[in-house]
Amino acid sequence: MRKFIVFLILFSISCVTTGPGGKTDFIFISTPEEVEIGKQVATDVEAEEKLLRNATVQNYVNDVGQKIARVCDRTDVEYTFKVIDKDEINAFACPGGFVYIYTGLLETLDNEAQLAGVLAHEISHVVARHSIKKLQNIYGYSILAQIALGDKAEGAAGDIVNVAAMLILQGYSRDNEFEADRYGILYARNAGYNPHGMIQVFEKFEKMEGNPPPAVLGLLSSHPPAAERIRKGESEIGRIGGKGFPYHEDRYKSIKSQL
Ligand SMILES: [Zn+2]
Repeated sequence: MRKFIVFLILFSISCVTTGPGGKTDFIFISTPEEVEIGKQVATDVEAEEKLLRNATVQNYVNDVGQKIARVCDRTDVEYTFKVIDKDEINAFACPGGFVYIYTGLLETLDNEAQLAGVLAHEISHVVARHSIKKLQNIYGYSILAQIALGDKAEGAAGDIVNVAAMLILQGYSRDNEFEADRYGILYARNAGYNPHGMIQVFEKFEKMEGNPPPAVLGLLSSHPPAAERIRKGESEIGRIGGKGFPYHEDRYKSIKSQL
């Protein structure tokens, strides 16, 4: 067994792209392993939550997500974007590119550039391997043996999937969040959206911080203060440009009317 693990480690170690400008990190959980973990977290999510039963809205959100996925720095996974029918102001990404957004958040937004900003932020967590890095920190190399030992029919070992799901619920570090904001602003702009859409979302959060509705508590407690995100986001937009890019308000309004 030991020999097998060493073999696995040697062939799994690699520096992979984890952000814009040729940023790389040391990741030893391979993409197929990550996708396997993510797929099972996504299966659990869909067993517990109700997906929105409106194909037009689902396709629209997925199309916006795919536009951003095409220009992001990670194209070795197939991204999916699905709407959960729940009055909660939140969105999250599972490892491997399975992204979810709640109807409560969709109802809070008022143009497509804002939606693009939210989805680009979630894609960025996947590009930067934020949850995978946390799994690596918790388990070390033993995670490879656990994945390898998992029954092929059942995929990755159950406790890894549970821990991955818990990490998503807990939220990421402030640094991870700022990183996802920064990449997301760039990706949204590169997909042709006004990057200021993301700032508009932060401004909405900022208004909620004073008197947060219960549906938003999770999101606000796990994310850095909105004022700081606005400040950093504005300076990033100043650097990369895109202020004249469209918001696509009409397109979004016709979809929103179907919620
Ligand atoms: Zn985030």
